Amino acid sequence: MRDTLVLNASFEPLSTVTLNRAVVLILTDKAVVEQSHPGLRMRGADVDIPVPRVIRLCRYVRVPFRRQAPWSRRGVLIRDQHRCAYCGRRASTVDHVVPRAQGGRDSWLNTVASCAEDNHRKAARTPEQAGMPLLRQPFVPSPAEAMLLAMGAGDRSALPRWLDRSAA
Ligand SMILES: [Zn+2]
Repeated sequence: MRDTLVLNASFEPLSTVTLNRAVVLILTDKAVVEQSHPGLRMRGADVDIPVPRVIRLCRYVRVPFRRQAPWSRRGVLIRDQHRCAYCGRRASTVDHVVPRAQGGRDSWLNTVASCAEDNHRKAARTPEQAGMPLLRQPFVPSPAEAMLLAMGAGDRSALPRWLDRSAA
């Protein structure tokens, strides 16, 4: 399924998001469907909506250009889709790649989602020291992604079950 175009409340294009994210924005009343794929609907227990091609945010969002998204633990978990960076299982904690004890800071590039076990096992060591390579590299979300993170649209746990399954 193609990505959905997101317009600001002012109708100016902001970014594209996955269909899942678009549906979350609609279901949480943060966006309305401006254009849909003709004849296609998404149906679930409590949901019956057209498959969105273009959505528009209900509230105007000021998108900060060239400004880094503010770091937060919640943001890291959402960015990493609650997947542990060391084993890929469900993550509930945030691990400092370079531990704080060794000068590592709270930043997008130095933090990853981690399961509690791996976080405990890695302790105050770097991935190299612990022999626990990262499955993927942390990244700084773009301002548009940061906006969606802030709105919770990147959080898969916010998805209805049927939709999450269909996307897996
Ligand atoms: Zn893990």
